[in-house]
Amino acid sequence: MPRRNDLEQKALQFIINTGYEGVLQSELWRKLRASSREGSRIALKLEDKGLIRREKELRDGRWTYRLYPKRLPASIDSIADCPCLLCPDNPRCDPSSAISPRSCERLTEWVLSITKTEFGMMGDS
Ligand code: SF4
Repeated sequence: MPRRNDLEQKALQFIINTGYEGVLQSELWRKLRASSREGSRIALKLEDKGLIRREKELRDGRWTYRLYPKRLPASIDSIADCPCLLCPDNPRCDPSSAISPRSCERLTEWVLSITKTEFGMMGDS
C-alpha cells in the first residue's frame, strides 16, 4: 500500500527531526493529517522495526505516547568540539599504543559531557 508506506516514511522523518524532544503521538497525526487509528498502527509498526521508541506521557489528564527516534543522524556539529580534532597526539594515538583513546581522559570527559547533555535534554521532555 503506497499511501501507508508514504505516511510511515513521513512519520519517521518527522520523529527523527524532533530529536531528543520527541513528539506527542496526537501532534504528529495532526501534522500528517492521519487518523489516530491509522497513526497508532504506524507508531506500533515503527516501534516493532526498532526505529522509534514510545514513552507513556500524561497530557491534560489523559495518557498518550511521546515518540522518539531510536537513532539520530550524525552531524558535523555533534563532533565539532571533540578533543581529538585539535589534539597534538592525534598522529600517534592508537588503541594498541601508550597514547590511546582507551585511556584518554580528555576523550572520556568529552564523551561523558555529551552523555550528560543528551540525558539532560531527554529528561526535560
Ligand atoms: S583520544 Fe585523546 S590522545 Fe587520542 S587523539 Fe583523542 S584527545 Fe588525543
